[in-house]
Amino acid sequence: MPNANPEIKYTKLFINNEFVDAVSKKTFTTLNPATAEKIIDVAAADKADVDLAVEAARKAFAPGSEWRSMDPSAKGKLIHKFADLIQRDRSYLADLESVDNGKPVGDSDFDIGMAIDCLRYFAGWSDKIHGDTIPVDGNFMTITRKEPVGVVGAIIPWNYPILMAAWKLSPALTTGCTVILKPAEQTPLTALYLGALAKEAGFPPGVVNILPGLGPQAGAAISGHLNIDKVAFTGSTDIGRLIMGSAAASNLKRVTLELGGKSPLIICADSDLDQAAEIAHGAIFNNHGQNCCAGSRTFVEASIYDSFIAKAKALAEKRKVGDPFGDGVQQGPQIDETQFKKIQDLIDSGKKEGATCVTGGGRWGEKGYFIQPTIFADVQDNMRIAKEEIFGPVQSIFKFSDINEAIERANATKYGLAAGIMTNDINKALLFAQSVQAGSVWVNCFDIVFANAPFGGYKQSGQGRELGEVSLKEYLETKTVTIALTKKV
Ligand code: ADP
Repeated sequence: MPNANPEIKYTKLFINNEFVDAVSKKTFTTLNPATAEKIIDVAAADKADVDLAVEAARKAFAPGSEWRSMDPSAKGKLIHKFADLIQRDRSYLADLESVDNGKPVGDSDFDIGMAIDCLRYFAGWSDKIHGDTIPVDGNFMTITRKEPVGVVGAIIPWNYPILMAAWKLSPALTTGCTVILKPAEQTPLTALYLGALAKEAGFPPGVVNILPGLGPQAGAAISGHLNIDKVAFTGSTDIGRLIMGSAAASNLKRVTLELGGKSPLIICADSDLDQAAEIAHGAIFNNHGQNCCAGSRTFVEASIYDSFIAKAKALAEKRKVGDPFGDGVQQGPQIDETQFKKIQDLIDSGKKEGATCVTGGGRWGEKGYFIQPTIFADVQDNMRIAKEEIFGPVQSIFKFSDINEAIERANATKYGLAAGIMTNDINKALLFAQSVQAGSVWVNCFDIVFANAPFGGYKQSGQGRELGEVSLKEYLETKTVTIALTKKV
């Protein structure tokens, strides 16, 4: 049974397999977004703590260390053990995630399942990563070795706390790196618990370090650190830009970025209208719209526009909003006051700029950061709600008359994370899949993500890819070794 008051066991920094206070003794407060009340104070890492974590992670990565000399298959087994422990404590972790993040507890459980899948997928890679033998000219044998990049700083957001931790830890650990993970200040609790599980699984000290803290302090200390080899970031495009700048200005550390989006979903007149409305609804309202690949621009073909709006409205009005631990609740609160106000501001801008507010448009309830499922129709491409990432439960519906026009408008954004199309016409689907500038394209579905399929953005939605085999290279260096032969046979 879900428990809305899970015991909170860990609130300190996790460095070198120990829970410790911040050097400064500073803390910050994490709130329950459903009530806006304090849950607990958590240690706030700053530069001095990042230095300590880097020292531990460096030592764990040093040649001859237990971790560096561990057999690759043993590394894989440790990652599987870690996944087993997450599975063992799955219901507790789901409760903790929902208290700290506000998402319905069933959604937290779903995310944890995805996190476990991710760990297991990458665990399988630990003894399958290898280089090549290259047929070079002359009397030489040339081989490549794939070596771990080193100490990885991972900075993650609050919208999928456990899942994003898994997306970063899994490839880093399977390639043999060591990690300093900074959860978002809004949601530090489950990441800290994962630290305890990593220790229990048997990772040597310093391999996994978890440093809650504020972005401009702990996050900036990671991205600008001279002794961190790579930063893997998921969050907003603005902060991604800062992180890339600071990585460049410090030691040119490797950078992967998974950033914002304004993903289009095209609804063609030939699609099944009920199914299209359902998919478009889930595409924007799942996770309260707090999803970087949310289908936040719904383009609907003119001939079905009015009937689509009626169906979308009915679905939004049926959506159950409320306590994340309540029966059948589909939508909890937004994460915090900042996001709540930003969403309200964008909703107000939509009304002022002349879009039609079909439903919602205001606060839900009296306390916490709830927003009514909101739909705007008659949205024009130049409106703020058409261009800016809202990151909230706000569906913006546009009208189009021709697939080529829809593709052009879909691409008219600085983002390129994801895109979708609902159609029964194979030619339209293929034209769209080839033409749209996005890292993920969904046909007759949306936001379907697998651990073994790459995920990431075109344009200002990011750099590099996560998940799938292709992501491993983001955590590896390639070393070319050329050996002179005494005789070529
Ligand atoms: P959002 O807008 O979704 O809150 P952010 O991009 O602000 O996302 O935050 C994502 C992560 O980036 C969080 O862990 C946050 O603490 C961190 N962060 C924020 N500011 C900085 C910064 N200046 N340097 C490094 N990390 C930061």
